[in-house]
Amino acid sequence: MAEVPLADRMQRIDASGIRRVFDLAARLENPINLSIGQPDFDVPPPCKERAIQAIRDGANRYTVTQGEAALRQALAERLRAEFGAFDGPVLVTSGVSGGLLLAFLATVNPGDEVLVPDPYFVMYKHLVSVLGGVPVFVDTYPDFRLRPEALEAAVTDRTRMLLLNSPANPTGVVASEEELRGAVEVARRHDLLVVSDEIYNAYTYDGPAPSPWPMYDRVLLLRGFSKTFAMTGWRLGYAVGPAPIISAMTTLQQYTFVCAPSPLQHAALAALETDPSARIETFRARRDLVWEGLRERFGVTRPGGAFYIFPEAPGGSGTAFVERAIAAGVLVIPGGVFSERDTHFRIAYTAERETLERGVAVLNRLAEDG
Ligand code: PMP
Repeated sequence: MAEVPLADRMQRIDASGIRRVFDLAARLENPINLSIGQPDFDVPPPCKERAIQAIRDGANRYTVTQGEAALRQALAERLRAEFGAFDGPVLVTSGVSGGLLLAFLATVNPGDEVLVPDPYFVMYKHLVSVLGGVPVFVDTYPDFRLRPEALEAAVTDRTRMLLLNSPANPTGVVASEEELRGAVEVARRHDLLVVSDEIYNAYTYDGPAPSPWPMYDRVLLLRGFSKTFAMTGWRLGYAVGPAPIISAMTTLQQYTFVCAPSPLQHAALAALETDPSARIETFRARRDLVWEGLRERFGVTRPGGAFYIFPEAPGGSGTAFVERAIAAGVLVIPGGVFSERDTHFRIAYTAERETLERGVAVLNRLAEDG
């Protein structure tokens, strides 16, 4: 067969790390699965009802590119309540992933450098790279704190953007107000755009996660419905930020996604009326269980949010430890998938208490065995 031509840019990305884990996992009969980056509860019933009703009522056509006016208005009101003032444009996106793609398309030129605190959400590296941008990784080990001097040292005359993600995937770390101020000062000094991915902002266990939004006028804020309301398959997120960027992203959305799913935009309004606090409490208890269960035998930073914890791999290799864990029936992800280092592993505590207890017991046994 003739070779199928792919664009050169495809050589800049690959998915082999994570695929290898899933290949190993596919052979497991009944794994203790601690690898899933989405909530294990279902969409709240009122949202389902509203989605069904919206479909019945004929909300099945394209919406305007920027999203249903009622949803944008509701989101703007929430931002106003949270930040005291907000009068900017809101763009409804196809998940935060859609927002990230539009944001990078709108702002990253080939050769532009983007500061990415490491470990990072894997999409940042690959989206920036596929566009010809250069992710510049800023090591945050061992405690995953943002250090302004490390960010400053990574800035060159090609640096255009700083990516922030708090609460973070894969570490669960929540950046403090002070850390964010330090990071924003670096951005201000060098005229960088700050992209703040706050998809986990509802999942915080020791007080709310501060946002860089009120600190700087060049913050592009990306938030979503996927995690907060367990609707990862619904593909709903939103972006707010400097008007020229939102406008460029809207133009790009017109020629790519067109709009976020129409009936689900209606149902998202119902989601905003639900109270996620009981579910967050469940995750707090899970965070406590996993942290308390691992802290004695693992070098591990206590997570304050999201639903991940990122311990050091006994023996020093994330991949080698994960292979042992998978052989023992526990599915976790090697740190090298999220980092330029492969010294840790990610646990997603998106599972029932009993499953978490079994998983923690197996991991501790592996750590004891060396
Ligand atoms: N950002 C982070 C940090 C994530 O972990 C995820 C999902 N794993 C996303 C963005 C994408 O979320 P979605 O596209 O479903 O909104």
